[in-house]
Amino acid sequence: MGRELVLLYNDAWVPILGPEKHPALGLPGVRVWPEMWHIIGRQLESVLATGQATFSDDQLLPAKRFGYLEEAYFTYSYSAIHDESGAVGGAFTAVTETTQRVLGERRLRTLRALGEVTTAPSGNEERSVEHVCAAALRALAGNRADIPFAAAYVVEDGVVRLFDSVGLREAGQVLPLVVSDPAEEPWVWDAVMHGAAGVIDDWGRRWPGAVVAGANPVGDADPEVVLVLPVTTGSQSGPAAVLVAGVTPYRTLDDDFRGFFGLVVDQVSRAVSDVQAFEGQRRRAEALAELDRAKSEFFANVSHEFRTPLTLIAGPAEDSLGDTREPLGPAQRERVEIIRRNVGRLRRLVDDMLDFARIEAGRMRPELEAADLAELTRELVSSFAPAVARAGLQLRTDIKLPGPPVEVDVRMWEKIVLNLLSNAVKYTRTGHIEVTLRRRDATVALAVRDTGIGIPRHELPLLFQRFHRVRGNSGRSHEGAGIGLALVAELVRVHGGTVEVESTVGTGTTFTVGVPLTPTDKAGDASSTRARPSAPGPYVEEALQWVAQPGPGQVGIEEYGADVPVGVARSGACVLVVEDNADLRRFITRLLAPHEAAPGCRLARRAPPRAVTRAALPTASLP
Ligand code: ADP
Repeated sequence: MGRELVLLYNDAWVPILGPEKHPALGLPGVRVWPEMWHIIGRQLESVLATGQATFSDDQLLPAKRFGYLEEAYFTYSYSAIHDESGAVGGAFTAVTETTQRVLGERRLRTLRALGEVTTAPSGNEERSVEHVCAAALRALAGNRADIPFAAAYVVEDGVVRLFDSVGLREAGQVLPLVVSDPAEEPWVWDAVMHGAAGVIDDWGRRWPGAVVAGANPVGDADPEVVLVLPVTTGSQSGPAAVLVAGVTPYRTLDDDFRGFFGLVVDQVSRAVSDVQAFEGQRRRAEALAELDRAKSEFFANVSHEFRTPLTLIAGPAEDSLGDTREPLGPAQRERVEIIRRNVGRLRRLVDDMLDFARIEAGRMRPELEAADLAELTRELVSSFAPAVARAGLQLRTDIKLPGPPVEVDVRMWEKIVLNLLSNAVKYTRTGHIEVTLRRRDATVALAVRDTGIGIPRHELPLLFQRFHRVRGNSGRSHEGAGIGLALVAELVRVHGGTVEVESTVGTGTTFTVGVPLTPTDKAGDASSTRARPSAPGPYVEEALQWVAQPGPGQVGIEEYGADVPVGVARSGACVLVVEDNADLRRFITRLLAPHEAAPGCRLARRAPPRAVTRAALPTASLP
């Protein structure tokens, strides 16, 4: 009121004054608010002079109410109070402090910016802890009013290195470039070693003028308080980074402000965790790929070594079996048959590994020749008929490919068909197997459908990976290297085609191969279009082993737990043989003869064996 603008106020106004200024009743305004008089004094003078009211919204008025100069915001109006003469004798003010809202919005903007820059814009972009720190510093630089400067240390292999900073004139002058001595820089060291947040509370005295001017609208005083915030990610190895953040000298570090810094570091920590998780996944994937490469290389190397001796075992075995001048007796014949069958199986494995080695070296190119694909496929399928019949399954075919012969690598096509067929037999216990071959636009589509055990949905994307096998499935045999489908996929790929799988657990599986149709220009050459399947032997023989009838003293795998007749050897000794490879089962049983071998698990339950060796029984559980 009056020319001196003496202050009169009610109780509701007391908090605006704060503990340092109240009571101020009757004091001239300029003495109460010297720190902001250059703003409000001018406004009040204008009201006195003109009688015109003023209105200020979220006006910054630096206020010294709590022992320091504070960044404070107010919404208020000044309106004229007229005396009896009609002249303006004073100004009435209604005021609301909006500091918390203004600062709250500003901090929220910072957090939002941090969220945007610290999360990966695209999943493929490679990001490191350094990328996150750089992005975080950029976001913090947008709010220098709260955080006049910020710096990030990155911890790598135990080395704590200053990565970058914002808001400092010469970061290297005031912050150690590398923190190596715990005694010299205990504040960073503690954060790194113990993940403990730290505070430096005499920054301004230690390094006056280090901060770039213009951070806060109130002034350029040095920050006194600096926070040291470890960026922890829940990993055992301690913080991945440490943030050093100046705190504006124009606000006290109250709970709200601390909470804000807590959210800042949480945000950065989350982004670093994401990066580490992504990085970890990438490394794991790389390590697995490397392992596969090493495995393939190893197999390819040993495969080469195996080929010659295998040929030299298979050849004489074949000779013995085919010798009519000195024919083998039945017992010898059975032994040599076992040798021949298993050498064939080993040879197939070796050939598959060599195929992979060729594919890896980019040397696998289809040798296209004119072939009657329908006839070739029909013959391949019919070679499987005995195994399918013995398995108690139905074989259905619908193979139609009218038109001229097409060009295909016959050897590769055989492998594709035989692998899919042998899987169908292996993983189907009841029902049927259906093979269809059709022309579909410019491709030929082969589908092998079974009513087997099916494949869980989450396994489907992994199915064509080398060495991948579905765990815990109950096929006819547990044998297998997990390379059949990978080879099919590669052979189809080199033909420029695709292979797809659809499957429902308990219902069945369909594999569909589509390869581009290349009509041949050698159509007239009848001999070259004849189907000449050469490879079914080992595939079919292996399949026959899975469906082999149990020999004397043996029980089929389906009969586990069934009430099979029990013949206890009179000697009292009982050996239980559980083996899904028919040859091996027969071989072990024969070793045990002439002691009477008695069948299966029921016997084991009634007359428990003295010792059970469990070499590889993934699903059979013994009583
Ligand atoms: P392998 O049969 O030697 O394990 P594959 O590469 O041929 O290797 O097959 C990979 C896995 O895919 C198999 O372990 C099996 O679990 C699953 N699988 C393949 N074909 C079928 C099928 N027709 N039905 C059910 N599962 C199958």
